[in-house]
Amino acid sequence: MIREPASRSSVLPTTRFDAIVQSLGDAPNLDSALYGIAKDVRNVFRVDICLLYLSDPAQQGLQRLMASDGLDAHAGPPLPHAFADALANLVAERSEPVNLCDSQALPAHRSGNCQGYLGVPVMHQSALLGVLVVQKKAKYRFSESELASLATLAAQIAGGIKLAEARSSISASAAGDQAAAPFFEGVIGAPGIANGTGHVVYSREKLEQVPDRPVTDIEAEIADFQAAVGQVAQELDRIAEEQGAGLMPEDRTLFRAYAMIARSDELKTSTLAGIRNGNWAAGALRDSIREHARYFEAMNDPYLRERADDIRDIGRALLNALKARDPVEERYPARTILVGEDLSALDLAAVKGGRLVAVISGHGSRLSHLAILARSMGIPAIMGLADTLPLASLDGKSLIVDGYRGRLYVEPDASLQREFRNLAARERRLSKKLRHLREQTAQTSDGFRVPLYTNAGLLSDLNPSLAAGSEGIGLYRTEFPFMVRDSFPTEEEQYLLYRQVLETFHPRPVTLRTLDIGGDKPLSYFPVKETNPFLGWRGIRISLDHPEMFLTQIRAMLRANRGLNNLNLLLPMISRVEDLDEALVLIQRAQQQLEQEGLSITRPLVGAMIEVPSAVYVVEALARRVDFLSVGTNDLIQYLLAVDRNNERVARWFDALHPAVIQALLRIIRAGRRSGTPVSVCGEAAGDPAVALLLIGMGVSSLSLSAGDLPRIKWAIHSFSRQRARHLLRQSLKLEQASAIRALLTQALRDAGLNALVHPGNRG
Ligand code: PEP
Ligand code: MG
Repeated sequence: MIREPASRSSVLPTTRFDAIVQSLGDAPNLDSALYGIAKDVRNVFRVDICLLYLSDPAQQGLQRLMASDGLDAHAGPPLPHAFADALANLVAERSEPVNLCDSQALPAHRSGNCQGYLGVPVMHQSALLGVLVVQKKAKYRFSESELASLATLAAQIAGGIKLAEARSSISASAAGDQAAAPFFEGVIGAPGIANGTGHVVYSREKLEQVPDRPVTDIEAEIADFQAAVGQVAQELDRIAEEQGAGLMPEDRTLFRAYAMIARSDELKTSTLAGIRNGNWAAGALRDSIREHARYFEAMNDPYLRERADDIRDIGRALLNALKARDPVEERYPARTILVGEDLSALDLAAVKGGRLVAVISGHGSRLSHLAILARSMGIPAIMGLADTLPLASLDGKSLIVDGYRGRLYVEPDASLQREFRNLAARERRLSKKLRHLREQTAQTSDGFRVPLYTNAGLLSDLNPSLAAGSEGIGLYRTEFPFMVRDSFPTEEEQYLLYRQVLETFHPRPVTLRTLDIGGDKPLSYFPVKETNPFLGWRGIRISLDHPEMFLTQIRAMLRANRGLNNLNLLLPMISRVEDLDEALVLIQRAQQQLEQEGLSITRPLVGAMIEVPSAVYVVEALARRVDFLSVGTNDLIQYLLAVDRNNERVARWFDALHPAVIQALLRIIRAGRRSGTPVSVCGEAAGDPAVALLLIGMGVSSLSLSAGDLPRIKWAIHSFSRQRARHLLRQSLKLEQASAIRALLTQALRDAGLNALVHPGNRG
């Protein structure tokens, strides 16, 4: 074996990797992305040849050479094609690097001029995407550190290649050059099927999120751009000249230089050319900034290379100025499919007049509050697509969202449209068929009664809940009204809101949960910066640290309940008995305050959420202190299985049928039954028919679900006896894997004739 020379082991060309990844992201199509990589890798690794293969799905994953650099006379004859392909396939087959040097491995008659070969697999989300190869003409063994560097780079470019592939296939499909519409798989957010037009919501901070949008009034667009340039340049001049701002002379020079770049002819000329080609100013600006940044990035001088960042900063400032000039009212298509990297509840609320038909989010999973919101609005959602396709390219495209499978189809042809129309019609028929259950109570065939409540968070959730035959509100998330304001609502504002909810459902019970902000529910006007927000200051912890806020909320709730008496009060994120005791004292104090003010107050039922694993282990002590328990499976599973509920990458580890989750649920429900404390389940898992069956087997007191899930769960409850559910529970408890439990319950649902309730992605 050839030993690695000491001097070579430390030479890792990783400093240039960022630039390679960045230019990959900027490439207009797949071909230029791949050629760019081959060229850059050949330069950075100082090799004679770089080859890039991609797996060809049409050829059972065999490797197809897609791009190369150095395959010319100057570099010397390469490996014969067949041998090179065989080596690439070997790398692919083993999913391991192949590093060859000696003449036995590369016999002269087969290797041509190649005397050093290194191929590494390019993996994306545990699937093989292709193979990256470098070759040297002279006899050479690639060092361990070179191998590690190439493998590192391969891991870094995988995501970019995937995105470039998606971008190319979307444009091919839009141009009618592709036989079948491409589809992309994300994480199921909310079920349902919808077709419509993509509308991208982009961040002012992220130029790469800006979509292309055709414009007709080119002169108006040019005027907007010129005005934005004037505004930004003036602002930069002002900062540079401002006395007393404490700026050092070199800072002033920098701001003057920024102003010059913003006004520069180069930037203007290329942006104006983009606008004249029919793109709106923001899209043209994005391209022009990209082009200029690349120019600097390609420079050898490190100082000049860093100027690329300045160009991007100026681009962001110009984008901000442009966005501020936009009319406040966005023009949403008639059937809007809202697309965005990180959409918020506010983005959804901005689409008015029933135009919103589906949601596509770059990040998140079915347990993200955005997905929960979509479910409560009865529209499908797909989450976690940011690593799979460039979301900006969906703007203005015709889309089909299949929320059952988490699939997004782009520019579907007429036959696919027909197929989905049929599916949607089947959906409607099932909903119609289940409508007759609306007036019936939910009970098993042997008479075990399971009241079905609904979850809500917006006033607009109330009508769908009533229409679905909800027996009350099992969970009202009070944080949503806090999130859509720009300051804390007053006691009076809260009173009016809660009163409306309680009145709408009267005499049915309404469970108002106290504020559960923190985690993924931030308030813009109450910023909390934490590195680990889900393990941080959240829910009851904030309420106890801010008793004034908590008391205001409780007072509003108690007042709203006067004369109605259908309020239940629920406390989130209880992790220890002390927190519950403290909260109960504050509730008592709020009641006393109101009584001292002369109001007669009836004490509502008070419950604790069981959604933190520690609460499962002290559930008996908690049950003794409250009137009911409500299990929040969304958080309970997140904390029990160490799976971030918002992270699409780990979504497949989030499983309500994990044996540990089943054990925890069983422990809670048994403790509740022993102490005579009703136990409800209000997490999203309650809407999964398989989980609901187990909960009935355990003897759950009630379920609280999204309104859209209610009729199907009622159907499932009617179709089983408690005895059968118990039997299925006993069988499940013997199984060690969630997949086996899922298979058992799916079969049980099918045997009961509930095929329509079985969807591929149910995981609670
Ligand atoms: C839960 O955690 O299951 C729950 C119902 O609360 P949220 O989703 O609002 O955190
Ligand atoms: Mg929760």
